Amino acid sequence: MSRFLKDSLLSLKPYTPGEQIKEGIRLKLNTNESPFPVSPLAQEYISKAAQSLQFYQDPEGTILREKLARYWELEKEQIILGNGSDDLLNQIFSVFFSEDTKLYIPDISYGFYKIYADLYHIPVVEVPLREDLSISCEDYLNLDGPILFANPNAPTGMLLSTKEIESILEANLDQLVIVDEAYIDFGGESVIPLVAKYSNLLVVQTFSKSRSMAGARLGFAVAQAEIIQDLRSIKYSTNPYNVNIMSLMAGLGAIEDQEYFEENCQAIIEAREYFMQEAEKIGFSGPESKTNFVFIKHERLRGEFLYSSLKKRGILVRHFPQDRISEYVRITIGTKENMDELLAALQAVLEEEI
Ligand SMILES: *Cc1c(COP(=O)(O)O)cnc(C)c1O
Repeated sequence: MSRFLKDSLLSLKPYTPGEQIKEGIRLKLNTNESPFPVSPLAQEYISKAAQSLQFYQDPEGTILREKLARYWELEKEQIILGNGSDDLLNQIFSVFFSEDTKLYIPDISYGFYKIYADLYHIPVVEVPLREDLSISCEDYLNLDGPILFANPNAPTGMLLSTKEIESILEANLDQLVIVDEAYIDFGGESVIPLVAKYSNLLVVQTFSKSRSMAGARLGFAVAQAEIIQDLRSIKYSTNPYNVNIMSLMAGLGAIEDQEYFEENCQAIIEAREYFMQEAEKIGFSGPESKTNFVFIKHERLRGEFLYSSLKKRGILVRHFPQDRISEYVRITIGTKENMDELLAALQAVLEEEI
């Protein structure tokens, strides 16, 4: 650090993004990207948008917000776009959480939550997951601060039902409840329809995973208009043009190409079920995933060892050193062919160990 860094940031520990492809890596299953390219319609819209890059785009992103509003049966005033959902989470932290109110998050969840909390000096209460790694709704009733969790949760992949989330909303009517639905399209049911009923609900979604747009950086948040208005105020106080025109138009194409989206989600769900079935035959187990990744451990091999053995064989997966989950690896679901390649590598690791 330089001698100019301000005191309040001296202890900041930034997020470590997943490793990138480098020499010797043939399969990247560590950051939950889609194995499929973005929709051809989106690619077509991107090329068109590229022809008008000399102009500032509509900072409201109206064309996409209107499309999303129709898709979700909302008003466009209930939707705001962001430069990835990380951008929106950052805005949410800066607008709604304060230094004297505790924020409730699961003890095992998306790593970025704690980093934002550190950045903004927000006190955090980490609510332990149950022994089986599921979120216990009863632990989130009548709390004295805002609540934030991912559904399905990461890196466990486990899903809460709409009814369970509604019980949390109902028991915390005076607290903001934020549901991060980054993985909702792989087998879950979005709580976006509950926005009409609950003025304390804020839902965040991303185009990064199920719509194959991780590199485009596009996310959106949905809530009643007053909440969205608050997020607009920070957007217009920092970076009104946070969503670039190519990503905006790509998002439009991705929503319009519903068939392509559904096909891809279905293929990933099938590859996931296939992989889990095969992996269980060779000694792996893990919670039931409703995401595009699985969180698994082996009866005999340690998580760290699995991670490094796979890396030696050219396959990147993710390992978290955190106490309760260090036995596990998180593996992104790719195509069925990708999963066969992974299964072969896992077999080889096991054989070498016997
Ligand atoms: C991937 C992910 C995000 C971030 O998504 P971007 O839109 O790419 O910023 C947010 N939350 C969870 C739980 C994620 O896994």
